[in-house]
Amino acid sequence: MSPELSELPARSVAVVLGTRPELVKLAPVIHRLGSSARLIHTGQHGDEAMSGRFVAELGLPAPELLRSVGGTPRAVQIGRSLEQLDALFGEHPPAAVVVQGDTNATLAGALAANARSIPLVHVEAGLRSNDAAMPEEHNRVLVDSIADVLCAATPENRANLLAEGIDPARVTLTGNTVVEAVRRHLPPAERRGALLAHHGLEPDHYILATLHRPENTDDTATLRTVLAELAALATDGLPVLLPLHPRTRARIEEAELGGLLDGITVLAPLGYGEFLALARHTALLISDSGGVQEECTVLGRPLIVVRRSTERPESMAHFAHLVSPGPQIGRLARHRLAQGAPGLRLLERTPSPYGDGLAAQRIAALITGLVRPAAHDAALAA
Ligand code: UDP
Repeated sequence: MSPELSELPARSVAVVLGTRPELVKLAPVIHRLGSSARLIHTGQHGDEAMSGRFVAELGLPAPELLRSVGGTPRAVQIGRSLEQLDALFGEHPPAAVVVQGDTNATLAGALAANARSIPLVHVEAGLRSNDAAMPEEHNRVLVDSIADVLCAATPENRANLLAEGIDPARVTLTGNTVVEAVRRHLPPAERRGALLAHHGLEPDHYILATLHRPENTDDTATLRTVLAELAALATDGLPVLLPLHPRTRARIEEAELGGLLDGITVLAPLGYGEFLALARHTALLISDSGGVQEECTVLGRPLIVVRRSTERPESMAHFAHLVSPGPQIGRLARHRLAQGAPGLRLLERTPSPYGDGLAAQRIAALITGLVRPAAHDAALAA
């Protein structure tokens, strides 16, 4: 912990989160905050595979858990989280609230802070897909509109905020905490070798896929198309690994598409270190994940993004290609795989557009700047 942060009162900074990517990307900030962090988990991702094990693996303090949020519709998640957060903030008011990204937990945390006039920090502010069909887009625009401190990961993110008329004084370019998350949690080479051997894989000779966005899973025809493209790639010779997100698994069962998984190596969701190890040595990633679009740039691996739109155009310059579900997935995958080892080595040398790995340090300093005056006033009043 930095010296300034050790002066903050214990558990004075509430960090509200609810999903796997928030745990991953807030972990570096929580580590910096040390004993001043108070973790509150809404339970949006409530199960052990998606959440509990990440708290342990990322070395985070035990969170306060909200009740009956996971698995409910968006409005119910936000409503229930907001009500419970308000009660918690009423009982023990934090000096600041920190949220990250664009989930329902992010929005609930932001609204709860706003309702009690608690300073709000938004980590990963200013991403825009300009796709109004994505609930995440609404969450991020709403949170950015009420946050006091907006931590923009890239100059593009900062420009998006300024273009919306947000006061530049509220916006700081910090870089993205994903860079330090990857550096800290990527297992060392020897351990990665053991993990690959455990899965029967050779470096640069397999494909790693993830799939969970409603735009790909909720419509049966689209889900069938994406799975059929992955299955066809598997018949080309390279194993295709698919750690299955619980909601995608449920949708596949519901839509009776299990047969399409026959040629694919289906895995349970992986822990963070294991996922990073496999991503580090894959020939190609295929994913609709937000976090994976950033991680591929730190790991130096190519990615096909199966989405209508992206809020991370920075990844598209060198590392990733955006395609909508259809035969272009296989076409582009084969094109990228044909670049072979030289293509992979080139990407390994290409710098990530997401910053220098010091984002959490900058964000922690911004939080201190917010909290310190309040802590000072409280001390005077006591
Ligand atoms: N991830 C993981 N295990 C897996 C699949 C993904 O640890 O089996 C990590 C991945 O490295 C990234 C995060 O989960 O950090 C992304 O989560 P997800 O795709 O669910 O959410 P998104 O980033 O799209 O919001």
